[in-house]
Amino acid sequence: MSPTIPENQWAQVVEKKGGPPVYKQISVIKPGPDEVLVKIKYSGVCHTDLHAMKGDWPLPLKLPLVGGHEGAGVVVAKGARAKGIEVGDHAGIKWLNGSCLACEFCETADEPLCAKAQLSGYTVNGTFQQYAIGKATHVSKLPKEVPLDAVAPILCAGITVYKGLKESGARPGQTIAIVGAGGGLGSLAQQYARAMGLRIIAIDGGDEKRDMCLKLGSEVYIDFTKSKDLVGDIKAATHEALGVHAVILLAVSEKPFQQAIEYVRPRGAIVAIGMPANAFLKAPVFETVVKMIEIKGSYVGNRQDGVEAVDFFSRGLIKAPFQTVPLKDLPQVFELMEQGKIAGRYILEIPE
Ligand code: NAD
Ligand code: ZN
Ligand code: ZN
Repeated sequence: MSPTIPENQWAQVVEKKGGPPVYKQISVIKPGPDEVLVKIKYSGVCHTDLHAMKGDWPLPLKLPLVGGHEGAGVVVAKGARAKGIEVGDHAGIKWLNGSCLACEFCETADEPLCAKAQLSGYTVNGTFQQYAIGKATHVSKLPKEVPLDAVAPILCAGITVYKGLKESGARPGQTIAIVGAGGGLGSLAQQYARAMGLRIIAIDGGDEKRDMCLKLGSEVYIDFTKSKDLVGDIKAATHEALGVHAVILLAVSEKPFQQAIEYVRPRGAIVAIGMPANAFLKAPVFETVVKMIEIKGSYVGNRQDGVEAVDFFSRGLIKAPFQTVPLKDLPQVFELMEQGKIAGRYILEIPE
């Protein structure tokens, strides 16, 4: 028997640039022919949702907007052409809501780069509502034994850091710096890095994040708010003070993006993932050349990265702390996030 789907639902709606989100009733949309409708049970809150509300980025945004792109729930309806997923399956809605599947990027498994990509909680309404739409080809199928709360952050943060670690080229036994290690992406990055056999230096601020990072598998924690010589401290923690093999930049401020070149070792890689507003990556040409440094961006992941990231989680390798609050509390979560006060992730429980 098909589940009954109401006409209206609760949602957090950003009505104007800058927010705050308004908790109100809106209508439930019917899935298109190639789409599924997912009854969201939990949604992580990613810093990207805050960038979206603030209108931080040079990328046009839908308004009014229901944010959210780490949604885990159950498929309750599907279009006639939606293949590979059934009503009753557990599913995750990711940042990449859909892509054309026919362009050169889609053909070569780089679908996040598709010019026609649709983005959950940015160009289409996302997961801060009870019922969200996703293309059947792009939703993540989740094993039924996986808890829907803990898996939610995997759908953006997990996939993104897993992909970024692969893009860094760091190999088992090598040392990486995770900058912004105490946040949502950072906490998961430590768990994936550890599962991949990497050694970790965590960089963030405050003692709560220190305790969390040392528990999550980092060997060293460096507090950027207290260190008098951040570069020196990071290098000192590496073999023969040569510097790290890779830097994973997750912080939401510009300075670490300029600093990374000073502590990455020759032949090392700098991977930009965090996206502070109006920020630039700057590196001296001379050092970049003579040290053969690779500087690159990494943007979410493709569908297979999603499958693999969920698989690491399903096998019990990824455990990161989270706090659960009701959907109506989203504005308070954004405030804490803005102040850098969240260690790990906040997850919204979506009302039944
Ligand atoms: P978050 O707020 O949970 O974490 C950010 C962390 O950075 C915080 O712990 C903060 O204390 C720390 N930080 C700030 N300044 C720092 C500094 N100078 N040095 C070290 N740490 C510092 O945010 P999040 O949800 O983890 O997202 C992080 C960033 O990644 C955001 O900009 C988000 O938009 C971006 N993001 C990118 C992708 C992608 O595909 N590239 C995907 C998801 C999120
Ligand atoms: Zn995200
Ligand atoms: Zn495409």
